[in-house]
Amino acid sequence: MTPSRGQVHSPGEAVARIAYLSSDVVVAVQPSQATDSEFSSHLKRFQSRKAKSLVATADGAVPEIISVRHNADPLLSVFSPVRSGKLVAVTTPSSILLPAIFHLYKLANYPVVLHVSLQPANFPDFSVITAIRNSGWTFLQSQTLQEAQDMALTAHALALRSGKGVVHFFATGSSEGDGPIEAEDVNAVREILDLDTARRFQSSSDGATGIYADDGRRPVASDRSDLPPVVGRNGAPTPDLASSIHSKLESSRTSELSSQQSATESPPSVASAATTIETTVPVVTSEDILRYANGVWSHIKRLLGREYQAFYYAGPANAENAIFVFGSGASYFTKVIEEARRGGDFSKVGIVAARLYRPWLSSALIEAIPQSVKRIAVLEQIHRRTTKWGPVLLDVLTSIKSGFGGVQTVVGYQLGYVNAKNVTPSLRAVLQNLTSEKPVQNLEVGSKDVPAPVTDYGLEKPQVETAYTKILDQLFGQRAFVANALKSSHAGISSTVVASPEFGFGSLIARKERRARFVDEVKEAATSNQFITENPKSWLARWAANADDVTKAGEIADDVLTRLETDGSPLARNLLDNKRLFRKESLWLVGSDAWSYDLGNSGVHHVLASGENVNLLIIDSTPYSERAAADANRRKKDIGLYAMNFGNAYVASTAVYSSYTQVLQAMLEADKFDGPSVVLAYLPYFGEHDSPLTVLQETKKAVDVGYWPLYRWNPHNEAKGEPNFSLDSEHIKKELKDFLARDNQLTQLMKKDPAFASSLAQDFGTEVRAQQKRKAKDAYNQLLEGLLGAPLTILYASDNGNASTLAKRLANRGKARGLKSTVMSMEDYPLEDLPSEENIVFITSTAGQGEFPQDGHAFWEAIKDNTELDLATVRYSVFGLGDKHYWPRKEDRIYYNKPAKDLNRVLSNLGAQKLADIGLGDDQDPDGFQTGYQEWEPKIWQALGVDKVEGLPEEPPPLTNEDIKLASNYLRGTILEGLKDTSTGALSASDCQLTKFHGTYMQDDRDVRDERKAQGLEPAYSFMIRCRLAGGVATPQQWVQMDDISTSLGNETMKLTTRQTFQFHGVIKSKLKPAMQAINRSLMDTIAACGDVNRNVMCSSLPTQSKLQKQAWASAKRISDHLLPSTTAYHEIWLTDDDDKKIQVAGNAVQDFEPLYGPTYLPRKFKITIAIPPHNDTDVYAHDIGLIAIRGSDGELEGFNVLVGGGMGATHNNKKTYPQIGRHLGFCKADEVHTVCEKVMLVQRDHGDRKNRKHARLKYTVDDMGVDVFRGKVEELWGEKFGKQRPFEFASNIDTFGWLRDETGLNHFTVFVENGRVEDTATFQMKTGLREIAKVLKGEFRLTGNQHVIISNVADEDLDEIKGLLRKYKLDNVHFSGLRLSSSACVAFPTCGLAMAESERYLPVLIDKLEATLEEVGLRNDSIVMRMTGCPNGCARPWLAEVAFVGKAYGAYNMYLGGGYHGQRLGKLYRSSIKEDEILAIMRPLLKQYALEREEGERFGDFCIRKGVIQATKEGRDFHDNVAEEDEEDDEE
Ligand code: SF4
Repeated sequence: MTPSRGQVHSPGEAVARIAYLSSDVVVAVQPSQATDSEFSSHLKRFQSRKAKSLVATADGAVPEIISVRHNADPLLSVFSPVRSGKLVAVTTPSSILLPAIFHLYKLANYPVVLHVSLQPANFPDFSVITAIRNSGWTFLQSQTLQEAQDMALTAHALALRSGKGVVHFFATGSSEGDGPIEAEDVNAVREILDLDTARRFQSSSDGATGIYADDGRRPVASDRSDLPPVVGRNGAPTPDLASSIHSKLESSRTSELSSQQSATESPPSVASAATTIETTVPVVTSEDILRYANGVWSHIKRLLGREYQAFYYAGPANAENAIFVFGSGASYFTKVIEEARRGGDFSKVGIVAARLYRPWLSSALIEAIPQSVKRIAVLEQIHRRTTKWGPVLLDVLTSIKSGFGGVQTVVGYQLGYVNAKNVTPSLRAVLQNLTSEKPVQNLEVGSKDVPAPVTDYGLEKPQVETAYTKILDQLFGQRAFVANALKSSHAGISSTVVASPEFGFGSLIARKERRARFVDEVKEAATSNQFITENPKSWLARWAANADDVTKAGEIADDVLTRLETDGSPLARNLLDNKRLFRKESLWLVGSDAWSYDLGNSGVHHVLASGENVNLLIIDSTPYSERAAADANRRKKDIGLYAMNFGNAYVASTAVYSSYTQVLQAMLEADKFDGPSVVLAYLPYFGEHDSPLTVLQETKKAVDVGYWPLYRWNPHNEAKGEPNFSLDSEHIKKELKDFLARDNQLTQLMKKDPAFASSLAQDFGTEVRAQQKRKAKDAYNQLLEGLLGAPLTILYASDNGNASTLAKRLANRGKARGLKSTVMSMEDYPLEDLPSEENIVFITSTAGQGEFPQDGHAFWEAIKDNTELDLATVRYSVFGLGDKHYWPRKEDRIYYNKPAKDLNRVLSNLGAQKLADIGLGDDQDPDGFQTGYQEWEPKIWQALGVDKVEGLPEEPPPLTNEDIKLASNYLRGTILEGLKDTSTGALSASDCQLTKFHGTYMQDDRDVRDERKAQGLEPAYSFMIRCRLAGGVATPQQWVQMDDISTSLGNETMKLTTRQTFQFHGVIKSKLKPAMQAINRSLMDTIAACGDVNRNVMCSSLPTQSKLQKQAWASAKRISDHLLPSTTAYHEIWLTDDDDKKIQVAGNAVQDFEPLYGPTYLPRKFKITIAIPPHNDTDVYAHDIGLIAIRGSDGELEGFNVLVGGGMGATHNNKKTYPQIGRHLGFCKADEVHTVCEKVMLVQRDHGDRKNRKHARLKYTVDDMGVDVFRGKVEELWGEKFGKQRPFEFASNIDTFGWLRDETGLNHFTVFVENGRVEDTATFQMKTGLREIAKVLKGEFRLTGNQHVIISNVADEDLDEIKGLLRKYKLDNVHFSGLRLSSSACVAFPTCGLAMAESERYLPVLIDKLEATLEEVGLRNDSIVMRMTGCPNGCARPWLAEVAFVGKAYGAYNMYLGGGYHGQRLGKLYRSSIKEDEILAIMRPLLKQYALEREEGERFGDFCIRKGVIQATKEGRDFHDNVAEEDEEDDEE
């Protein structure tokens, strides 16, 4: 089928339709993969409808559409298909043409069609066309919508007939006023294209595949009867056409001769201008092209009734003045002329334009212009003119010279912006000048006011791309000289040229030479007598002696400059004019990965070959996932390898979004290296507006799998006895490995760092998955040999372990019944084996929006549309696990157990027979999914005839956390053994439960999980380490030590947590122990930072009341120490000496004892906090124990009001779980508080639920028992009674930013650390800044419960220094919106294994989007507490926020409203599973309403309740009541 006939509205569409019908392959150039061009949306639409091409060789073949980004060297994708005999069209903006000249020459002799939409769309620059006019292509121009259709067709027909490339160009704006036209007549298109010629091209392939093969190709021309036959292919004529060759040879020689005779800029008449002409080979001449074109146009006239010539003329036959328009305004001019035909100023004026622009045929032009014409104006719309005379003016002049002789004057004009309004005055201006006595050349006509361009295709780079140049700036400051910085102004030179490597390299060399001359000038000056003072001379001499030493020259420079300034002589002033040259500059040239396609010709080669001491920074922006989809034939070469092979260069491969430190190191080394340096910088992006998050995720994938390894190579190192190569990431790709192996560097590297050995030895890119699957299956089969019963294969897809556990248990039970049961993950199963199964059972859980879990994706993709599998002999059943309440909206209910239902349907369609009906497990059933499962499983045994088997063995109950704790010997387990196992980056599952008690969790990087799976690798395991830091107070020295640990052992960042402590991420197993030891050396530890124990005890950080804070903090510390587990396992495992000998307290026979906890510790985690009114900055209501500090009448800390049973964790849709706020037990004295805490903990230890971890927190114990009973039990153990609760008042739970002074006269500055992440970026060196402050600070750091940090106890005399550093590192900026300052988010992706959605990385983005509204409604400075977490575990305490978002699925959140401003009231569910657009659609009007209708001092949470937007939650047990969006019961299933 073909695109159905209808109306066409734009030239983009008209062209796309013709290109689609006339090609095997269309290369669609787009602004980005995510943004369509004016052509590509249509192309994709046709393709999705499976519309066919007219030229397709196979029946039903649909053209291939290759989408390529405009800045990814699109023409590269043409070579491979065109060389294998495919008809290729390219739809593109004009911006790609100049950088692609090299390809254009090579492609000129293939029948490729380039449809070019001139840019910028509103006022295009035609110089792009004139610049490439001599590349050997044929050029056609269209002006109207109808012409776009007809010239597109002409272009394809002409390409086929001539065997040569055709560029069809047009300015979209020219046809703006055109009404819609009728879609092309497919039969006419078929006839005009001439399918026989197409077939002849398609049946040939020249065998070359690369882009560098064969430059001497000759076009293959048509033998169609309406045209003179011309043939030639790779120098060899085809036999059936041989007879025609002789005559062509003659014609070709003649035209060569005539072309040589025309002494102008116009191209040689032989169209194959770019190559050497071999006299024995026939060529296609300009005259041939014209004949072919006329032939095509005669067909168009006959079939479609429209007439075309090479040059277009509109106007009277007796015109005296002709206006040749080469620009987008031709149609406006024509209209005016036509309207004025009957008289007036313009009655004797005609308009001329080129339809066939190249080859330029003088005879055709002369034929088109009436002989009466005396004057010709040539209007060129050329934005950047490089020569005095415009190229079209020269063409016209040349033609006129050889013409009829009537023309006396030819005048060139610069054509500005013309539209319907200014066309008449413009035309008048043209004529006035043209007819004047002395016409002015190059007069500008039209408007200079051009509407702002819509620059889809400019040189504009995404914001993130500036990252590397900012680093250059940061490192070298004024010393950095970037030769081709995109934004620098180079008068009169186009931005494309300025950005070119040649230009940049040239200016670097010039710069070097300039400095060398300057050094000579200085030397001379040092002995001159022209200074007024004597001082400068000796300094200049010293400087000249050190001019090449970066540091010394820089140091002396300051002195020299002062001396010169004081001197004031003309010579001194002269030298001062070149101030910058006193410093040795760091010379940089910035390039793109486009250079990697043709290294030999690129800037890289120039630099390497020159041996000059210049630095190249090459930014590669191809996303890892896009490279997989990219054309496999694009031979992008490895610049790093090329440069290393060259031998004389420093080479580094870096990625700022992977390791910032490594980028710094590489740039510094490159700067120091005496010789050429190449720094490759990865910055993948899809579109210009990509968020840094996308860039980060793409970078991680690429680095992690070795596609973009991080390394540094210094060929001078060998002389110093150091290895040349340093690997800074874990994996490398094969090519690099081969290079290193050849160079013996790999062996050195493995020796130096044995930890890398195993990963280095792995080959990436080799597809081992298939073999692995096969092996696993065969191994199972062997195992089953011995069994007799019927075979049963069980496949599972599981995302949280339930499906795999069920599957494995089913298999065991099957075996016990004598079945040959096999169990494996769906992803490990070779699908081709399916038809040979007898009995197969699938168990799958439900992920995301009704999708298969990750390990079932591939299987589902392979089977869902499969029509070839014959499962007639297979018996099957499916069991699904899902949650009916997961999707609250009715329309989303279809997702419930969707994978299981889909699979059931597909298997049945493939002919499989049912073993038993599908079984569905629902989390909402009384026993969860077990309810459904228990009904389903017996049906399987029944169907297999094994339901009546007797004497089945008893199954062991599943291992619980309680079992693991009990069996661990006081938290030892097999952690030590696991740490020594280098075959995996992981620890065993049960050890992972235990390491939590030691303060570390195993995690895996979820950004790269899928990619690693695809590569057959285990997940990227690493560990999170959390310190214990009671009250969040750290010394400056500890801060520096923490900073060191994060840089050398972690992922270069620190997280300040909501429990006021340091957390490190990305610590790999081999670095775990060194990290623990380093933490220990800093006098901190990690014991009990996680696990079922009392966690880090918090305390208000309170900068204004230091005395009270100190006392409260002492209580926190005491509680923390008092409740610390006693096991010595921590020391034993982590703090061993270098020989790995255990430091044991009492020899190996020591038996631990936990006086407070006992061998099974607590049922669940346990959290204690202290808040000091009026600041509830530690959210006192959210913890198992909340202590409200009470000040006595003497102003000292008297004691605490004790709250119990607060807690944040909940499970979505499980109403048995809920967040809760603490309830009052009463008052206790300060010196007894640790005992009270102990007793509360003991009651929980003995009464907490140890069976159900979802019901094990203290909040449920208190609720189940009642507060009074609970209090009684505590008092019983304590032996005392609580006092009466004391009055107190809270004002807020957020931090107060900026400087504050306390009652003792010390100063405190609260720094805003967004979501607690301390890191350096190219624009903000927060980590370095805080480190610098730590180096000089005499006070302390207080970490706040809101994840910020206070630089505390600064004496007045130290204020200036600290303020200076804060300013220097921009840390003094606290002028953020009130919403941002009051926000907080948990870590979530990529490290938290429980995260369902982004949090820390996303909340700032969401706030960005809300800030405009805040600004607009006047709420910019109002504090609204907004929190976000990636799952309902609630680490950032979202339930107490005034507005909260809790992750439900990737990109979807539950929204809560109505929390109390100072953390006293829980919020309530407002909407479920909403995405960003819905969030914004709710928040924006709500904020507006709040701004307009709030009462004096009313907080946002209170407002939402007063206005009835949400009902108030009084305490945890009514959290699920009266929600705004009730979870409807599903009445369908
Ligand atoms: S709230 Fe959930 S997603 Fe966020 S860090 Fe805690 S467990 Fe992870």
